[in-house]
Amino acid sequence: MKGALAAMERSDYQTANSIFRNLIDSGQPLPEEMPYYFSETLFHLGQFDNSQNFVNKYLELTGFNGQNYEYAVRLKEKLKEPLAQIIACELCDRRGYRYAPCPLCDGNKQVEQACAYCKANGVVGCSRCGASGMLKKLNIFNIVEFFECERCTGKGRLSCSSCGGSGKEVSACKNCEGSGKTASADLCSHAEHTHPDPTKK
Ligand SMILES: [Zn+2]
Ligand SMILES: [Zn+2]
Ligand SMILES: [Zn+2]
Ligand SMILES: [Zn+2]
Repeated sequence: MKGALAAMERSDYQTANSIFRNLIDSGQPLPEEMPYYFSETLFHLGQFDNSQNFVNKYLELTGFNGQNYEYAVRLKEKLKEPLAQIIACELCDRRGYRYAPCPLCDGNKQVEQACAYCKANGVVGCSRCGASGMLKKLNIFNIVEFFECERCTGKGRLSCSSCGGSGKEVSACKNCEGSGKTASADLCSHAEHTHPDPTKK
């Protein structure tokens, strides 16, 4: 953990972050003060939601006795504003990562796929006549007579009711659960566009 603290000392939070993550991944018992230092690092990296998780964990584990208790309480205060901004912003998820259009549905929320009911054929066999197009009936002389099935007008097949005969169905995109957007790896600025406006000076 010394290496991480030294990195924090020189404001190299990226390095501190990767040292902390290696420490967590190593599966070894973590130093008691580590969650606090990690949460402070995450705060500086703009990962506010994660920072809050670790500072809460720290306070939960050490209570009032942690060496960094006061700092932890102060960090929680400092987190309030950026976390409120994230909640108020519609351009990012609750961790503060900017949304991008879903790559699978291209932001359309829905995707077109083969109709599951007719297996993309657009037609299904008529159930009334068993797809034969004919119905059998016994007449009063007990003789079998054949009639054209009126449901499918003798064709034995019907246009698929599920897809209306197109063979395709449109359903909510599973990748983005129909929201049309997925979180990117970029932290959100909470502003529409950050491109400088060339018409302004
Ligand atoms: Zn999608
Ligand atoms: Zn029929
Ligand atoms: Zn269909
Ligand atoms: Zn945002």
